[in-house]
Amino acid sequence: MAMIVQKYGGTSVGSVERIQAVAQRIYKRVQAGNQLVVVVSAMGKTTDTLVQLANAISTNPNRREMDMLLSTGEQVSISLLSMALQELGQPAVSLTGAQVGIVTEAEHSRARILEIKTDRLHRHLNRGQVIVVAGFQGVSTGNDLEITTLGRGGSDTSAVAIAAALKASCCEIYTDVPGILSTDPRIVPEAQLMPEVTSDEMLELASLGAKVLHPRAVEIAKNYGIPLAVRSSWTDDPGTQVMSVPVEDRPLVNLEIAKAVDGVAFDSDQVRIAMLHIPDRPGVAAKLFGEIAARNVDVDLIIQSIHDGNSNDIAFTVTENAAQQAQAIAEAIAPTLCEGTSQNLDDVAVMTAADIAKITISGAGMIGRPGIAATMFQSLADAGINIEMISTSEVKVSCVILQKDCDRAIATLCDVFEIASSPMTIIPAAFSHANHPPVRGVALDLKQAQLAIRHVPDHPGMAAKIFSLLAQQNISVDMIIQSQRCRVLNGVSTRDIAFTVAQGDAEAARLALSGIAERMSFGEIEVNPAIAKVSIVGAGMIGAPGVAAKFFQALADDRINIQMITTSEIKISCVVPEAQGKQALKLVHDAFDLAGTAKIEVPA
Ligand code: ASP
Ligand code: MG
Repeated sequence: MAMIVQKYGGTSVGSVERIQAVAQRIYKRVQAGNQLVVVVSAMGKTTDTLVQLANAISTNPNRREMDMLLSTGEQVSISLLSMALQELGQPAVSLTGAQVGIVTEAEHSRARILEIKTDRLHRHLNRGQVIVVAGFQGVSTGNDLEITTLGRGGSDTSAVAIAAALKASCCEIYTDVPGILSTDPRIVPEAQLMPEVTSDEMLELASLGAKVLHPRAVEIAKNYGIPLAVRSSWTDDPGTQVMSVPVEDRPLVNLEIAKAVDGVAFDSDQVRIAMLHIPDRPGVAAKLFGEIAARNVDVDLIIQSIHDGNSNDIAFTVTENAAQQAQAIAEAIAPTLCEGTSQNLDDVAVMTAADIAKITISGAGMIGRPGIAATMFQSLADAGINIEMISTSEVKVSCVILQKDCDRAIATLCDVFEIASSPMTIIPAAFSHANHPPVRGVALDLKQAQLAIRHVPDHPGMAAKIFSLLAQQNISVDMIIQSQRCRVLNGVSTRDIAFTVAQGDAEAARLALSGIAERMSFGEIEVNPAIAKVSIVGAGMIGAPGVAAKFFQALADDRINIQMITTSEIKISCVVPEAQGKQALKLVHDAFDLAGTAKIEVPA
């Protein structure tokens, strides 16, 4: 007998007929010999309607009262679904978050789950009842038992957390789309269903998949190794399997506010190659990495910061044994890159540094929590370690540092983030990157702005200052890139630092940084809201040369200029002009053969 946790979204329980259909579905699963705990959202657009009501009364409604109000939506749907099950002759009981004992922090409207009591759940299950639980809500710890909510879309998180607490065999998320698609179907109608995706990939695709699956739910699934399925409520199709590496028993206390960083990794077998003063125009990255891929050399990190005048720099890392070859390729291609541009070949420089190491922190918990990158930079600075390169993704921050600093960096970071030692997990064959496609999905983010600080003095602690300041203002930073080019101003060597933030935060970020600019001897602060970020994600790109080249070539073919590049092991992101963002998404989706002809029904 398997224990299954299911979750039904608002549209799936949007009417009496739909509630009855869901009850039928549940009934069949129980008949087949399973125990079911079912989490439901509020019916249809109920939560939105309640928010509108509150806004009609107050421009700034009290957060406690908001939780009191919004939690009623789910109370309607759980009782109705429970009645519908009873009508079918299926014993059922509905429970609110508080009745179950879904204990959260006392943070109204954005509480994280601390613990889920399972005694009552087990009691009902043992009586043969289906339990219908109100999603998205919990009860705070402390003397005053307060109703809390987890934040919009939080029912997914409730469901996966219950699955973790009960050690259920799987968690199924039922929704109004067939599963997770390879890209946004409103922009690319040829988007196709992904039959499977790893939780790591899903987290890196957070900006694509967030509407279908709450990133916090994916975080719990990954941390507790819960198999997840995202499926349509209207069909029996299998949907998308979100796969997580099985984990050993992990304590169920502080279920959600587990550590933001759960791994520190390093790689000292890396050589950095930087090409400086190459022309800033479409096709340059494609040519360079195309040539490298043609020789079958695998590139790890790739970084391109914002341009400086008409020229730009690209830096990348390769393993030590490929370094000479990569350097020779870069040198040989320089004349081709400059051809037909005003760029002077004599200015182009290829610089190789073998004495470097890459150090990476990773953790699903860093999504939406500002300050993690800043903490990393600060602790490196405190240890007197200069950062040569920075590259970031949704769930990782990598810094290239000097090899001699590597041991100290690892010790410092393990200490600061309380990592005992990176555990050696045995990765099952199904998770080996060789068994995954190089690119699973493509995401577009049009809601970011790019900021650049010119001429930041190049000494330890500068990145830390900048990003702690932003974290203090509660501004989440997405891509962070430090330029390769060093410019000596008044005897001080300086570099540009560029990053992206949500468009709504750009002005606050600019203001905050302007406040310290003079004291820190920064140059100009530039803001560009007209950018788009296009990302490809796939576990199979590890050790597969040519993926980056193909991505850059697809953009070059349409003469789309790449303004910034960052990478992680399983993700490559490019910033392009906003006006070309949608076109870029289509081209890249096509280039990796993700487009299909199967008609995917997606509600407007
Ligand atoms: N009803 C809540 C919302 O709309 C929670 C959920 O559906 O996940 O945000
Ligand atoms: Mg949802």
